Amino acid sequence: MGGVVISVALIISFLLRATCQDSPKRSLRFDGATGKFKIVAFADLHFGENAWENWGPEQDRKSDRVMSYILDAEKPDLVVFLGDVLTANNLPVKNATKYWKQATEATAKRSIPWAAVFGNHDDAPFEWPAQWFGPSGVPGASPGHYAYFQGTSRAELMEEDLKSALSVSVQGPPSLWPSVSNFALPIASHRKPGSTAALLYLMDSGGGSYPQVISAKQASWFRDVSAALNPDNQTQELVFWHIPSKAYESVAPKPSSPIAAPCIGSLNEENVASQSAEWGIMGILAKRPSAKAVVVGHNHGLDWCCPSGSGGLWLCFARHSGYGGYGSWTRGARVIELSENSGEKPRTWIRLENGRVVGELELDKSATRHPRHDADS
Ligand SMILES: [Zn+2]
Repeated sequence: MGGVVISVALIISFLLRATCQDSPKRSLRFDGATGKFKIVAFADLHFGENAWENWGPEQDRKSDRVMSYILDAEKPDLVVFLGDVLTANNLPVKNATKYWKQATEATAKRSIPWAAVFGNHDDAPFEWPAQWFGPSGVPGASPGHYAYFQGTSRAELMEEDLKSALSVSVQGPPSLWPSVSNFALPIASHRKPGSTAALLYLMDSGGGSYPQVISAKQASWFRDVSAALNPDNQTQELVFWHIPSKAYESVAPKPSSPIAAPCIGSLNEENVASQSAEWGIMGILAKRPSAKAVVVGHNHGLDWCCPSGSGGLWLCFARHSGYGGYGSWTRGARVIELSENSGEKPRTWIRLENGRVVGELELDKSATRHPRHDADS
């Protein structure tokens, strides 16, 4: 009964958001001319690394250039920050929100709305770098005022995010604490005013200040909210979180081997680093024909999509978008284009910082590869 009340309250708040003219928050809507809605997912930006030397700030500038290029090339309707926006364990500051602001700036400058989920680094506590204990000592440190052991909490980062009128993130239900970034975003139809043509679900896969899991409580929250918003499975759905679930391991191509059908992608250089347990979310998703894909980050060296079983759900990686964090693979971002035109399936591809577009496919049961872009250089 409590679940029903919460679900009804959620629907009302969504409807209020979608219709209230005075709301400073953007409502998300398919484009009237094209019938499309395009999302760019930036994963693993890792802002704020090594601020005590030139290297870190230089990586942030490069990440900013990657995002600026991709945003100008793709002109999305929404950006999803897919976790590890910050490397908080590398940040000797009490309050990391200025780095969060820096990471969202390229998107804000272009007046593009965004939503954010947290990864395992965003609220991690500060870790003393080993080199600080070498001959050069701790840079600029005096007791108690330079390095901090507590990260800026998920709730504080979310509060900062929500200050922007462009953020469509939602501080998730307190009952799901310590996970925070759990919310649904309806995308309104342009064709049929008052109806929803797609649903995005953003979830917090943990890490940092607590274990890397999607809890059983989060799974039942998803089950209730999706059943309330999309009871007949007629509205297409996408799901975003940071750390791949265990299901990714069972569909993954062998690392460093060519990516073969039915998987499609261009980067396969790592083992899947999955969540520590599976508490039911994948079973619920497998039973929803309307759920087209789960999109995750976390593994910087993977950008493939593989079908999960026969239900039509695709499991996709986003690829490393930022210059912070491990790896030196060409940076890029996953783009997903939804359509409300009849017969058109959602499509996805990777836009690389060097201008190439790779790994395009339809997110459908019978996936069609679109290799037309892969030969571009
Ligand atoms: Zn990362």
